[in-house]
Order: sequence, then C-alpha cells, then structure tokens
Amino acid sequence: MRYVSHATCMICNKRFEKGEFEYICPDHGNEGILDIQYGYDAIKKEFTKDFLAGNKDMSIWRYKPLLPVGENTPVPNLIVGNSPLINLDTLSDQFGIKHLYLKDDGRLPTASFKDRASAIAVVKAHEQNAQVITTASTGNAAAALSGLCASVGQENVIFVPARAPQAKIAQLLMFGSKVILVDGTYDDAFELCLEVAKEYGWYNRNTAYNPYMSEGKKTCAFEICEQLYWKAPDIIFVSVGDGCIIGGIHKGLKDLLAMGWIDKMPRLMGIQAQGSSYMVQAWENNEDILLKKACDAETIADSISAGLPRDRIKAFNAVKSTKGAFLAVSDDDIIKAIPDLAKKTGVFAEPAGAATWAGIKKAAKKGMVNSDDTVVVINTGSGLKDINSAMKAIDLMDMKYFKIKPSIHGFRNIASDLNLISA
Ligand SMILES: *Cc1c(COP(=O)(O)O)cnc(C)c1O
Ligand SMILES: [Zn+2]
Repeated sequence: MRYVSHATCMICNKRFEKGEFEYICPDHGNEGILDIQYGYDAIKKEFTKDFLAGNKDMSIWRYKPLLPVGENTPVPNLIVGNSPLINLDTLSDQFGIKHLYLKDDGRLPTASFKDRASAIAVVKAHEQNAQVITTASTGNAAAALSGLCASVGQENVIFVPARAPQAKIAQLLMFGSKVILVDGTYDDAFELCLEVAKEYGWYNRNTAYNPYMSEGKKTCAFEICEQLYWKAPDIIFVSVGDGCIIGGIHKGLKDLLAMGWIDKMPRLMGIQAQGSSYMVQAWENNEDILLKKACDAETIADSISAGLPRDRIKAFNAVKSTKGAFLAVSDDDIIKAIPDLAKKTGVFAEPAGAATWAGIKKAAKKGMVNSDDTVVVINTGSGLKDINSAMKAIDLMDMKYFKIKPSIHGFRNIASDLNLISA
C-alpha cells in the first residue's frame, strides 16, 4: 500500500482515503465499485524500467510498487505471472495484420488468468488477519483462490454453480477448500456469497466487489508491454464475462502511460459469447449499463457466462475510452476456435479462452483490424479445465481417430486413412 493514495467510486467519483474504505462505496451499494489510485510521481522516483530489467523476480511481485501491497508484505510462494507471449507472426497474414501474439495465461499455476487476482486476495486477507476468505465463481476464480490459499495455509469457503466443469471442482477439493455447490447460476452463487461473507465476517474476494482484484489482473498488461520491450501493441483481444479482466488490463495500461513506460493506449476488444452478451448489447444499442437489467447467460463458455457483468462500468470504460469495441461470437464459433487455435499454435484453450481466437477472426473479417497493427490475443484458461467442451468440439467437427487391434495387421488396415502428407 506504499504508493496507494486513495480510492474513488466508479459511479460518483467520491474519494476514499487509505484506511477509509473496505470494498464498495456505501452510497452506491454493490455497484459502487472502487478504483484504487496511486501516487505515480513518488513511484517514478524509485521504480524504473532499468530497475525492472535487473529484477530477477519474474512473478507479478516484480511490479510491487504499482500494486496495492506493502514493500515487505509477505507474498505467496506459489509463483504467479510471467506467462508466455507467443509470437504467431507466421499466422498474421491470415488476419491481414502485421504482428500477432498470443498471451497464454492458461500456463499460470491453477491454469487460468484468475491466479493474478487471487494472489492479491490472499495477501490482502493476510494483512487483515482474516480467518476465512470466500468467493463465488464460475470455477476459475474459485480454483485460483483455492490454490493460492493452499500455498499459504489459508482457510477458505468457495461457492460455485453445481454445473461448473468437473476439473474445476476437482481442483477445489484437491486444494482443500470447503466447497459449496450452489443449485443455481453464477449470479445466484455471487449474491449468496456476498450475503454469507457479510453475515460471517469473512474476507470477500468476489470479482468487482473487492477493488483489489483489478489490481492483480492488470499485471497481465504490464507483462505484455514488458515482453514487447515497452512498445505497446495496437489491439488487445480479451474475453469478457464480468468484465474485471478487461477493466484490469485497461488499468495496467493506464498505469504504464502514467509512468511514461509506454506511449500509446492499445484498443481493447471485449469478446463475449452470443448467449451471454450483456456488454455487446449495451454497446451496440447505446444502453445505460446502470439501468440495463440482467440478460440471459447461456453459453458453452462457462467462464464468461454472466447475466449481469459485475464489473461492467470498468469494462465499458475500458472499451470506450480506448476506441475499441465489444463483439459477440457464437458458441459454434467458440467450439471451432478451440481446435483451430490448438492445431495452429500448440495452445489448448478452454472455451472462454478460445473465444478471443474466434473474436479476432470475426474482427478481421469485419475490417476492425488494420494491416499494420500489432495484435495481442489473450488465452485466459487451459483447455484441460473443461474436457467435456473439448470433446463436444471433437464430435461436432467429426474429428477422426482410429481404434484397432494391437497388431501390425490392424495398423496396416487403417494406414492409408491417416492421410500422411509425407507417406
Ligand atoms: C473469468 C474468466 C474470463 C472473464 O473474466 P471477467 O473478468 O469475468 O470478464 C475469461 N476467461 C476465463 C478462462 C475466465 O476464467
Ligand atoms: Zn459512490
């Protein structure tokens, strides 16, 4: 917290001094999400690009002065951050762009982007001597909090929809969380978790309620720009459920501009599933997101299934102020994007992760990217998180495989069907 100066309400802009706020603006209830503010002049005096270049800590904590934690606050040993930025220039022609990169956050310790936020959550909870941390989640934020809590021995209670993918539930149980399967949607689990946290006085990690989660998520933007030698990309594709990731990426980029480490703001493209497209609807129809009611949330991409995106104000600002756009992709396109991305890059993404791959295809077709653009596509989660959806893609696309007797004869019978190019 060394350089945190204050926090402001996203709705009324009211200022809260350090120590005067906990989660939200009391005047605006659950919508009164706070934005943490820093004193950049003081940070600049001791934190430089050169200092970073010599910092051997490759985790998110290498950016500590720009994070809401104290200089000497203990951090988890489970390493979060430094996910690879993979050069896909060999594919950039297909999209009619100059440079293409994939930021693979499926490679974080619990296999999703959410580790970035949960790492901050356990540190903040520890600062407050919290006995219990809790969160509701479609699955990944839960698994991330669960794993990070395991790494520091922190008790935690997790609320997830009973229909969450098995792998994510398995992670929770393996990491030793107290798991509550809620017979309802993510939105139901979220409301319940807020109520329970209040009643029992637990530390609340909920996305877009706890203002520090965006601060963890912004580290992805720091890494992207550092991996590009501080030359900011022109466009970043981000999948959007609650909107906390895209808001966090925006925050990170704003930090870097304020530090003078990058010299332009990339356009942010928010990709949603057609069946859960609250932000896209609001964007296209110019609707007021403070008045717009929850919409349906039915998509194979469980991680971006959110009827009422909790961080919609930050998400909307992120896209609007960077001259980006929100774009919806169908479940069919998402399912097809999983094997397409995997075959072309070696990166296996869960549906919400592959949504950005479907997104850049659609954006390129619509002429939303320029021929000299440098584009970063973020994969937010590993395909191993949701094998059922992957198997659906395999069925749907009629992918061929062979079952044979364990004999050379059995193999010879199918050999020509392999269609090997080199044979
Ligand atoms: C949480 C999540 C998202 C969406 O993030 P929001 O902050 O809810 O917009 C996208 N992909 C994956 C894999 C996620 O776990
Ligand atoms: Zn307010």
